[in-house]
Amino acid sequence: MSVREEFDAWATDGRDRGMERRHWHTAKHALARMPVESDDAVVDLGTGSGYAIRALRERGIDRGYGLDGAPEMARNAREYTDDEAVEFLVGDFGALPFQDDSVDHVFSMEAFYYAADPHTTLSEIRRILKPGGTFYCAVNYFAESKHTHEWQDPISLEMTLWDRRQYREAFREAGLLVAEQDTIPDREIEIPPAEEFPIDDWETREAMVDRYRTWGTLLTVGVAPA
Ligand code: SAH
Repeated sequence: MSVREEFDAWATDGRDRGMERRHWHTAKHALARMPVESDDAVVDLGTGSGYAIRALRERGIDRGYGLDGAPEMARNAREYTDDEAVEFLVGDFGALPFQDDSVDHVFSMEAFYYAADPHTTLSEIRRILKPGGTFYCAVNYFAESKHTHEWQDPISLEMTLWDRRQYREAFREAGLLVAEQDTIPDREIEIPPAEEFPIDDWETREAMVDRYRTWGTLLTVGVAPA
């Protein structure tokens, strides 16, 4: 199945807005750390509902581009804002539709690991970033967060399961300096008392604590050398 087939169906089912609600718990902290300025152009890779670009525009960036491989995602995202300084584009992580040295910052939440070749995507990000530009890469699916690994099962696309070191090494191989790496816990999701388990997707309270409070979102920040 292609990115388009998989994620157009998600968009049609309203899962774009569902992801926004859940991902916002930690994405907002990653976004708050981005050193954006008022004349910046920022790209959001795998934009889904487009919430990251809307939030950055509220912080006053000049232009936002939300890229997604699923046309229905991009179409929904366009409907959620009438901001003319924001553009939603259909495109693939393998060939980013931007000029060399043209973008101030790149953000991505819960999307990078779907890249068919994550090394190519990092090279593409390096190519489009201006010197000193940053890539804020946030993922919930990573090796140390072991209760996320089963997310691959229902998804036909192959997902890259790197650990923290592999993220750092791949960024460096692509020519990005690693400025920061951190995990951002989700302290907002409600975790019921132990006696209520099993619930929904969770066998035990410990598993849920491990996923949300211990690991949460892995943020790796790359900087394009000046
Ligand atoms: N960032 C959003 C959406 C995450 S879901 C959020 O936090 O809620 C992942 C998104 O990445 C989907 O919208 C999917 O269509 C997009 N995507 C996955 N692989 C892609 C690829 N190779 N190229 C472009 N977009 C891709």
